[in-house]
Amino acid sequence: MQTLINICQLFSERWAFKFSPSKSHVLLYGKCQSNTIDRFFLYGSEIPIVKSTKHVGILLESSFNSMEQTMNACHMLRATTISIMNSGVHPAILNTSTCLKIVNQLAYTRALYGCELWNNLTKSELLLLERAHRFVCKAVQGLPKRSRSDKCTSLLGWLCIECYIDKCKLLFFGRLCRLNSTHLPKQIMMARLLEFKYTCVDNQLGFIPDMYRLFIKYNLLQYVVNLIELGSFPSKIVWNNVVSQNIHKTEQLKWLERISNDSDFNFFKLIHPVIKLHKAWIIAKRYPDLRVASKYIIDLCAIVRIETEQLLCEKCGKLFSNVLEHILCSCDFVLDYRNEMWRDIININPIQFSVYMDSLSSLEFTATLLSCDTIYELDDDESIVFSKLCVQHVYSTCKLFKMLIISDNQNCLIMFL
Ligand SMILES: [Zn+2]
Repeated sequence: MQTLINICQLFSERWAFKFSPSKSHVLLYGKCQSNTIDRFFLYGSEIPIVKSTKHVGILLESSFNSMEQTMNACHMLRATTISIMNSGVHPAILNTSTCLKIVNQLAYTRALYGCELWNNLTKSELLLLERAHRFVCKAVQGLPKRSRSDKCTSLLGWLCIECYIDKCKLLFFGRLCRLNSTHLPKQIMMARLLEFKYTCVDNQLGFIPDMYRLFIKYNLLQYVVNLIELGSFPSKIVWNNVVSQNIHKTEQLKWLERISNDSDFNFFKLIHPVIKLHKAWIIAKRYPDLRVASKYIIDLCAIVRIETEQLLCEKCGKLFSNVLEHILCSCDFVLDYRNEMWRDIININPIQFSVYMDSLSSLEFTATLLSCDTIYELDDDESIVFSKLCVQHVYSTCKLFKMLIISDNQNCLIMFL
């Protein structure tokens, strides 16, 4: 080791620059004790032996424990988001898509810096990261802390944070694979890959075993087999598309499994059955004057549920179990507004669309209005007109009903005045 340090010292002297001995550290991996090994010197000064150090922004621990690095990332994610929000980038003032862009560029790129090399994260570390991710997701949309995370993330079209880290790792792997074979990083990676394939090393740790887990998880093993056997690897665009699609498909299946086993999501899965950006956010971006109405629709989607007990409407005297279904389909108090909404629906081309809307059950009709989207094939312009109509009418009808969404920092309630 000292010989290698001497080579570096000689090199620096030849090229007239200097390494800093006080900023250099020696990390002892494995079970060896610091008092049993030799001391190392650079320009006559001793290099300190430490248990953890930062290398190109990534915290390295001699014990392979990455908890401190994960805690730092969580803290960075929350703290950066809060400071961005406090500086005025808030859904109450700005459009959510703008907030999202700023948070993504500032908070995520800082917090997840170097996540390509985060290996063997434990379940508790992933849970910590996931909590921070959900916190950001709710803050960006202005939703209360205790709203269901699976609703909030899917309304924004976000996947869990583990998927983002996995995507960064797979894209980094792609970049390594596309390097020319003469490059040293590619040679090292291929050597480690072949070592893993032929189990040359017992209990191999690090990047390659972690990547192997991801290839299995996202059904990408065939690409690595082709790389080893034929030396071929997809281009950047193809690899990025394959990785994005497979990650989305896998996460979508897991999400559907989670929400189908939970009665809290019975109505939500009719409104928003796929992880994608909710149409109300798209309308808010396209028509900034509808920002408040769009936010109101998102709040409704995040909190509305079917009650187990029947409730009585004080305005019309009918019983109902789903408050929005009652307001949008059967309450006599808002009949004029409903007629106006139907006039607008009939004006959408083709005319068969209004027949289709009329054929829906009241629950399906309410879910369609809240989703601001339809499975009926409308052309792009008419589809936008329909989404806009949904945002405007649901907002104005519910406002007429004097229905307020009361939210403190923790909970969200629907209240009637
Ligand atoms: Zn009523």
